[in-house]
Amino acid sequence: MRAVTVHPIDVEVIPEQLEDGVLYICERYQIALHRCCCGCGEEVVTPLNPAEWSLARHGKSVSLSPSIGNWSFKCRSHYWIRQNKVVWSGGMSDKQIQRVKESDREAKIAYVEATNRLKAAQGIPGFLGRCWAVLRHFLGL
Ligand SMILES: [Zn+2]
Repeated sequence: MRAVTVHPIDVEVIPEQLEDGVLYICERYQIALHRCCCGCGEEVVTPLNPAEWSLARHGKSVSLSPSIGNWSFKCRSHYWIRQNKVVWSGGMSDKQIQRVKESDREAKIAYVEATNRLKAAQGIPGFLGRCWAVLRHFLGL
């Protein structure tokens, strides 16, 4: 059964068994967990950091953003948690999921390329430094 609301609970440690309709928030580990709101029982882990999800508190209610897209589950459910309400988003077609995965992959590739460029840039002075050390050795400097 699809959940319409979630109940946020602050926890110190992540419980072994999650209950349906509960959003477990663990500030210590900067993570939130809940069971998929479609009722399939899959556990949804949302790390809370600037690159992943952010949790907004409004008194007793919470919102998670961006939306939760469980593409890897059989249910492929997609919803928002806004002020404890589960706002269902239209199901995503294979094409849409593919697009999301591709843009994720492109972002990852861009990141790897940027890191490699940085490594290469740092590698050149290192290489010249080694050449210089060898040259100095032979010149007896
Ligand atoms: Zn589900």
